[in-house]
Parts: sequence; structure tokens; C-alpha cells
Amino acid sequence: MTRNEFVQLCGILGVGLPIQAAFGSCSKDEPILEASDTVIIIGAGAAGLSAAYLLRQRRVDVQILEAASHYGGRMIRTTDFADFPIPLGAEWLHVERGVFDEIVNDPSTTVSIHTTPYDPNMDYGVFEGRRVSVADIGFTIDQKFVNATWYDFFEAYITPFVRDRISYGQIVKTIDYSGEQVIVQTTNGEFSANRVIVTVPVKMLQKGTIAFIPELPSEKQDAINNVTVWDGCKAFIEFSEKFYPTFIGFDITPETDGQKLYYDAAYGQNTAQNILGLFAVGTGTLPYVNLSDDNLLDYMLTELDALFDGQASANYVKHLFQNWNEAPFANGAYLVDHEDWRRVRTLGESVGNQLFFAGDAYTTGEDWSSVHAAARSAKRVVEALLG
Ligand SMILES: Cc1cc2nc3c(=O)[nH]c(=O)nc-3n(C[C@H](O)[C@H](O)[C@H](O)COP(=O)(O)OP(=O)(O)OC[C@H]3O[C@@H](n4cnc5c(N)ncnc54)[C@H](O)[C@@H]3O)c2cc1C
Repeated sequence: MTRNEFVQLCGILGVGLPIQAAFGSCSKDEPILEASDTVIIIGAGAAGLSAAYLLRQRRVDVQILEAASHYGGRMIRTTDFADFPIPLGAEWLHVERGVFDEIVNDPSTTVSIHTTPYDPNMDYGVFEGRRVSVADIGFTIDQKFVNATWYDFFEAYITPFVRDRISYGQIVKTIDYSGEQVIVQTTNGEFSANRVIVTVPVKMLQKGTIAFIPELPSEKQDAINNVTVWDGCKAFIEFSEKFYPTFIGFDITPETDGQKLYYDAAYGQNTAQNILGLFAVGTGTLPYVNLSDDNLLDYMLTELDALFDGQASANYVKHLFQNWNEAPFANGAYLVDHEDWRRVRTLGESVGNQLFFAGDAYTTGEDWSSVHAAARSAKRVVEALLG
């Protein structure tokens, strides 16, 4: 059963009830955490930062162990390529802006990050040589951040409260939850806490990069082994002239095969630079991820030249490529859209009262593969811990 079928089923079963009420959630009435308990969070992406932030709001002693030398995970961005931040991973806000307040969880804070929707009257795409609407391309409620990114939202509102809790270069190798304290072994040392929240990308668990002692329950391990993570890459190309529309679509079925889309990455930004983005997941990545950098550029310019009468090569300034398959602590993009929600839900379940899972793949099965889903899954886990 796919996510869409799940949502339909929830609609049928949960008449008058929120989806979680129809299906239950892992949230319990009794708090699991005791006042003196400590929590280790593995990973400082959207889920890890959100979980730490919410626990700090309740003064819980948390420590984040992050493998990389920076936080952000699949939200990272660069400020070196253009005069506005370029999101190398997560780019669009896929839900209503209210999710910012949900994540901040503090009515006294006003979120002043700007986002912009697309204008169905002005914006359009080209698809197989035809002009199509933004809705045809699949962008309806999605919004672009304006001179900001998902990373900048976390940078402004979440990380200031947890930055001092992050320990970098800690590649977790073993999680031993056989005793009262959970022992976490990293490449740099040993840590212990009463509870652990694992937020590493599910692809990293599929690859067995972390050993669990005892092994995870078979149902959980089966879910880890059997979900499918899409390959993913992005590219950004600067041109001296803007010769392209808001979107350039290609014939790939997003529900099953992935996506390949060029788009105006400077849309809505306060900039004079012309930056075209390429977003590709699943089979959409195939032409790009196996090419050397020179061949990759040739490939992109050739396919754009064919669509825009040689204007890509004529106006090329510079480019940047991000291959998520080779990102050492992600090894891929995110769970496929058509994943079975029951497996996702199993991924999101805790193991006993010590081992918890949060992140874009470890949800209730209602939604997955986005920053907001990762943050919401963290909230669910924190609610379960705090009762
Ligand atoms: C190309 C691309 C485009 C995307 N576009 C969007 C979009 O437009 N909108 C959107 O909402 N979402 C988008 N996403 C998805 C979004 O980026 C993710 O869903 C979200 O960032 C996941 O957050 P997370 O905390 O679950 O995982 P991550 O961000 O991956 O964080 C996990 C952290 O764990 C760390 N880690 C891994 N292994 C270990 C280890 N052994 N020990 C310690 N730490 C470890 C990693 O370094 C990382 O910091 C996109 C993703 C990609 C790849």
C-alpha cells in the first residue's frame, strides 16, 4: 500500500478523527524519561536537531553525536556559489508555513523566514516541448525559501539552543542496549545514556554501518532491509542570460521511477544572477551520477541546448554538482514515494524503552522523506519520552 492509499484509508477509517487517532501513535501517557535521565541523539540533521531542541526546552540532558564536521545533514547549503544560499539537499517547503511554528514550539517566537509560492498565472514549465502549468509539474502548495533555506531556518531558530550539545566527528559504530545504560561506541570514544534516539539515514542502517547489541528485532530489521531509498543528485548552473522558464520537466513517473527537473533556482530571490537548478532522484539521476565532471557539464549543456537552441552553451558561466549517493553519511536521497507505509511505520517504532528512531524515514507512515516529516517524527519521539 502506498502513501496515497494510506492517506485514503485513514480518511475512511478516521472520520472525524485525526489520522494518528485512527491508527494510534507511539506517544504514551506515562513519561518514559525520569528526571535524571540522559539522552544521546545520533545525527544532527533536521530530526536530531529538532529532538535535541524539544528535549532542551524541557531541560533534559542531551548530547548529539554527529559523524560529519558540521550539522544539517541533508539540509546543507552553500553560500559560495551565488549571492543567495544554494540548498544542496532540501529546497522546498512542501507543507503550510505553520510547520515552522510547530517545529519552534514556542508561541513567543515569530518566525520571519520568507517563503514564496509559485504564481499559476505567471509561472509555467516546458515538458517534452509543450508548455505546461506549475500544477502539471507537481508544484501546488510547495514554496521556495527567499534568500534562505531550510538550513537557515534551523540555523536561526533551533541550533542556537543545542549547538553546544553537538559533538562532531563521532561516527557511531555500535549501540549496545543490552544493559540499563545504552553504550554508544564511536570512532572517537564511548558514550552512555539512559535513552538513545537514532536519526541516521535509513540507507546507513541498510548498509550495516551501525551494529546493534542485541540485534534489532527481526520485524524492524526486515523493514530496514526492504525499504527502497532513491539515488539523488542536484546541480546548479549559472548563466549570463535567463533563457528558460520556471520549470523544465522530463518524462519520468514520479510515483514509481523518480524525478528529473530543471528549475529556476533564483526564483523569488533578491538577486540578479541567473541560476538554473537540476533536481534528480531515482532513475532521473542515471545520466548524471556516473559521469566525470567535464562529461557531466557537457551532458547538461547538450540537453539544454537541444531545448533552447544552443543558448545554454552560449550563456554558461559556472556550475556545481552534488551527488548524494556519494555523501558519506547519507549514501542516497530518501525513501521512495511509493514505499509501503507499514514498513515506514515499523521503522518509526521504538525498540523497548531505550532505543528510539526519528528522521525522515522513521515516521508513523503518514508522510516521509522531507524536512517537515523528519522534524515531526522527532516531536513524536520526544512526546513519547516525556509522556
Ligand atoms: C536531493 C534532495 C532534495 C531534497 N529536497 C527536499 C525538499 O525540497 N524539501 C524537503 O522537505 N525535503 C527535501 N529533501 C529531504 C530532506 O533533506 C530530508 O528528508 C531531511 O533533511 C532528513 O533529515 P534527517 O534528520 O532525517 O536526516 P539527515 O539530514 O540525513 O541527518 C542525519 C544525520 O546523521 C548523521 N549520521 C549518519 N551516520 C552517522 C553515524 N554513523 N554516526 C553519527 N552520525 C551519523 C549524518 O551526518 C546526518 O547529519 C531532499 C533530500 C535530497 C537528498
